Amino acid sequence: MNNIVAIVGRPNVGKSTFFNRLIQRRDAIVDSVSGVTRDRNYGKSEWNGKEFSVIDTGGYIKGSEDIFESEIRRQVELAIDESDAILFVVDVEEGITPMDDEVAKRLRKVTKPVLLVVNKVDNAKRENDALEFYNLGLGEYFTISGMSGSGTGDLLDKLVEVLPELPPINENPEELPRFAVVGRPNAGKSSFINALIGEDRFVVTDIAGTTRDAIDTKYNRFGFEFNLVDTAGIRRKAKVKEDLEFYSVMRSVRAIEHADVCILVIDATRGFEGQDQSIFWLAEKNRKGIVILVNKWDLVEKGTMTSVDYERKIREEIAPFTDVPILFVSALTKQRLLKALETAVHVFESRKNRIATSKFNEVMLPIIESNPPPALKGKYVKIKYCMQLPTKTPQFVFFANLPQYVKDPYKRFIENKLREIYDFEGVPIDIYFRQK
Ligand code: GDP
Ligand code: GDP
Repeated sequence: MNNIVAIVGRPNVGKSTFFNRLIQRRDAIVDSVSGVTRDRNYGKSEWNGKEFSVIDTGGYIKGSEDIFESEIRRQVELAIDESDAILFVVDVEEGITPMDDEVAKRLRKVTKPVLLVVNKVDNAKRENDALEFYNLGLGEYFTISGMSGSGTGDLLDKLVEVLPELPPINENPEELPRFAVVGRPNAGKSSFINALIGEDRFVVTDIAGTTRDAIDTKYNRFGFEFNLVDTAGIRRKAKVKEDLEFYSVMRSVRAIEHADVCILVIDATRGFEGQDQSIFWLAEKNRKGIVILVNKWDLVEKGTMTSVDYERKIREEIAPFTDVPILFVSALTKQRLLKALETAVHVFESRKNRIATSKFNEVMLPIIESNPPPALKGKYVKIKYCMQLPTKTPQFVFFANLPQYVKDPYKRFIENKLREIYDFEGVPIDIYFRQK
């Protein structure tokens, strides 16, 4: 499990510039064939061997100047609720603004680590200008230039030092698989879980204390035991209840990172929306198993909108990772709920598929031979050997003489073939080409 670091601050102080710097290197390594980065506000970063997730809260705020103030207040509350550490970014060019003062006042009361980041300190003179930020009462600050990267090393040293130690997850073989039920507010997540559980014990029990953990229910079906994770419960417990994209996405981050399979519930009457997409990519980026449930199917007048049309539209939205089960369900009438669960179990199992190396070569090499990567600059790429890596989520490596010449379309071709032959429905996979 990762620590979650939230970046907060006014618009234009340089949050997204800094965020991009934090996640850049890492993304280049992690993103695979299908891993097109869709959500530019969430990413993984690493410093001194410590990995953490970063959320640029500002990236989710769009709109005119006047909505910003209240938005920033909510953004800060949510960061306080949901993150393990907060980076509060201010702008040395502008100096302290009333909004900065207000945010600082709020953050002074927070017990989580808060680091004050003075950005746009591009030169020595600005080091002096930065002194005024002591007046924010947050103590020590870090001067950086998000643009050039200067100063970020010291900041990150401090950040990883103050991040809390988290217990390792899934180390315990006894730990049950975790299926997180995610989706926008009112999609029907609690209804889905309630219908399965058959009792109303999800209805608001205001558990004092932490918003840290989603509410888990141990569940046993098909001789298979797992935890259903209710993320709607997190929202209910929280202070901020606004129905805005950012909130449901941010509240899902921890549950998704912690899950094995994400059951994405969407509201059939609303279609696959921006939030649904953000949550989908969050799951995909974390290489979690995914099942999409189109809920409230009972409300859709059949004939005007068939499931075939509907499914096609969703697949367009989630491309290029389209090999995902999509089921039409109703939490109200309980239509196909068990099928949904069974599918999630199946995805969970597929995610653990391990293909024997000899078999894999036997199957893949002839395909590659008859469809080799296109020659580049007169050079031919030869793939001689391939294997699945012994990783937690499926990763495949193909050894070639000139791996740098293998381009995305060919990687996609290989992924599609792999998915045709082996069952990885709902399972993000990684494909690498390496020097032999
Ligand atoms: P956000 O709204 O807080 O995410 O801010 P952006 O990252 O979009 O940056 C706002 C503006 O500040 C852009 O024009 C950036 O190029 C500029 N900027 C960001 N970081 C720096 C920096 O370190 N130095 C200078 N001089 N400009 C910067
Ligand atoms: P959550 O915020 O995602 O947990 O959504 P809820 O489970 O609280 O459901 C939101 C609303 O949608 C409630 O009024 C539910 O009764 C309703 N609802 C949920 N699932 C269905 C369904 O399959 N069919 C219909 N007609 N209504 C549903």
